[in-house]
Amino acid sequence: MNRETVKEIMQSEGILPQSKFGQNFLCDEDIIKSIVDLCEIKSEDQVLEIGPGLGSITYPISELTDNFTCVEIDNGLAGYLTENLQGVNIINDDFIKHHFENPECYNVIVSNIPYYVMTDIMKKLFAEFNKAGRMVFMVEDDAIARIDCKPNTKQYGPLAILCALYGSYNYEFKVPYTAFVPQPRTTSAVISFTREGSADILNPDFVKFLNNCFAMRRKLLKKNLSSIAKPEVIDEVFRELSISDTSRAEELEPYQFASLYKCIINNSKQI
Ligand code: SAM
Repeated sequence: MNRETVKEIMQSEGILPQSKFGQNFLCDEDIIKSIVDLCEIKSEDQVLEIGPGLGSITYPISELTDNFTCVEIDNGLAGYLTENLQGVNIINDDFIKHHFENPECYNVIVSNIPYYVMTDIMKKLFAEFNKAGRMVFMVEDDAIARIDCKPNTKQYGPLAILCALYGSYNYEFKVPYTAFVPQPRTTSAVISFTREGSADILNPDFVKFLNNCFAMRRKLLKKNLSSIAKPEVIDEVFRELSISDTSRAEELEPYQFASLYKCIINNSKQI
């Protein structure tokens, strides 16, 4: 889908891009092709796209698989796609609020993520859709600092830990703002993840656990954990895992959070 097609559809359908939904439609055919190629879709794959918009990525993907679901918050866009894209399951809802009966069925997830809600969308994906082998996202280039960062940095937190535990991460390429209608203020980037065994730990309770660990960043980790486990359990688990009593959440490596979570559950059943 090129710039002219995007503009034509917007005009003929009376669609005005809504900034409250982060609507910047991709209109560079080379970039669209690269994103679709990165998804490595096989015909038997179940694919999920969040925020299909006018269908820039959606149309080419619909040619690769018959098992394709999209979730679009905007009624007008969802209606347009339902009328024009045969064989694709278009759900008109807020992805964050939508309840999926069987999130484990999806193998591939793709999204040009609406930037205003990136963290919430990625957290939900890693919590509920982590059986998928592959995830490909377009994000704001500046947001990479919160996705790919190390302990003891300002940006390190639940999102970076979930990304690291889900699997291997790759920064694919930058996308200039000229590749969109309307043009956003910032540069974007395409990134990809491939699932690894460490993703087995990811679930909604683990995400809550991480949020708790970082609830008060400057406080000791033990203090943050006091709302979810008894002090004697925390003491025992810290000893077992050789974590210092004075550690703060931002000092632990992602794999340590996985061990901590498993150990607390085994020792208390309180989470
Ligand atoms: N995928 C299209 C593209 O690449 O041109 C559109 C991308 S645009 C950056 C983000 C899309 O996500 C918009 O269509 C917007 O309406 C949709 N969206 C925003 N918030 C959403 C949410 N919470 N749940 C589902 N879709 C959402």
